[in-house]
Amino acid sequence: MKQPRFVRVALVLAILVLPSAVAAQPSEIRANADRMEQRIKALSAFGANPEGGVSRVAFSEADLAGRAYITDLMREAGLSVRMDTAGNIIGRRAGGETDLPVIMFGSHIDSVPGGGNYDGDVGVIAAIEVIQLLQDNAIRTRHSLEVVSFTDEEGGLTGSRAMLGEIGDATLNVVSHSGMTIGDGIRAVGGDPNSLDLAKRRPGEIKAFIELHIEQGAILHDEKIDIGVVEGIVGIRWWDVTIEGFANHAGTTPMNRRQDAMVSAAKFVLAVNRVATNMSGRQVATVGRMRAEPGAPNVIPGEVVLSLEIRDLSADKMQRVFDQIKEEGERIAAAHSTPIRYAEIDVASAPAPTDERIRRIIAAAADDLGLSFKFMPSGAGHDAQDMARIAPTGMIFVPSVNGVSHSPKEFTSAEDMANGASVLYRTVLEIDGGVLE
Ligand SMILES: [Zn+2]
Repeated sequence: MKQPRFVRVALVLAILVLPSAVAAQPSEIRANADRMEQRIKALSAFGANPEGGVSRVAFSEADLAGRAYITDLMREAGLSVRMDTAGNIIGRRAGGETDLPVIMFGSHIDSVPGGGNYDGDVGVIAAIEVIQLLQDNAIRTRHSLEVVSFTDEEGGLTGSRAMLGEIGDATLNVVSHSGMTIGDGIRAVGGDPNSLDLAKRRPGEIKAFIELHIEQGAILHDEKIDIGVVEGIVGIRWWDVTIEGFANHAGTTPMNRRQDAMVSAAKFVLAVNRVATNMSGRQVATVGRMRAEPGAPNVIPGEVVLSLEIRDLSADKMQRVFDQIKEEGERIAAAHSTPIRYAEIDVASAPAPTDERIRRIIAAAADDLGLSFKFMPSGAGHDAQDMARIAPTGMIFVPSVNGVSHSPKEFTSAEDMANGASVLYRTVLEIDGGVLE
């Protein structure tokens, strides 16, 4: 039977159009929530603790098993996997233009002792998910892509610091939670602590670095927001604050003749809280520890040593907070004749702002996917803060239920993980498309 001409034309058109109608358009591609959750579950078997989380400290047997699992997943997704001399696991997918710098993304799978199943893990599983989506949809990027699982994040950002070339002998000799020194640990996972130079990455080698991570705070959860666009990782400064009083008999010294270091300390703690609360912005300041001498119920404290910590995205702001606290401290010291001294402790880490262009790309990706988002700082440290010093860096947060983290009770839903991975996927493709040029 002869078909009418318009039917034949329609058939030919359908055949021509069909292939592109079947393959998902890049804009329609979404991360697979079930696949991600199943992988998070599988990963949580390595170092599982009785409370339902993991104790997978870097360099432990559990870490080794987790690393093997991640390496397998990377290979399954079509990545060629290598380990650098610092033990960072790096899976590479070659791009179409080999002279272009790589786009790198990932996180870590080591945990704190008594940790949960999401901190770091979500970022690594999501990074592999991005590769899987590209593979499933036969999408070739211009830039080569590198998925990274950093070594020993929780023990001091060891893997990313090695990429900066900043792991010296002092660090290698630090005893990690595994009981091994960091140097021995690196050797145990297959790295080479004697040639860490080879792990160093040079500026220009990495087009961009993106880390997806759970928020570890309650802002997204409380405000029911899907995606956090991280503005940067806050800087941290610490001081030992010594308040000098006069130790004297608590029974025979009248109230108006006391130089009570503890009373001044109490006022100081309140002042720290007031200054950080009343200044506009999101700075935080904390007194986390206090010791009174001689420390007896019947002696007026002669000395109190307390800790002061200040965090913010701006170094200037941190200094302003400190200056104002110091001013209040002077008033307290004068009122009670208890001089106050400040000794800064050398743990300071400088604020690490993320790349403004990448922030906009992440926000636009979330928006296109119909997800709500919020610009926010990261109060916790991440490998991204190191990478920000050698490459334009972006960070994506997904909600932590009730803000719980570093705990077996840590939880992020499969849907939230997949949302984050979909945003990561789009962000990588946008950067690959040349928006940073
Ligand atoms: Zn982490």
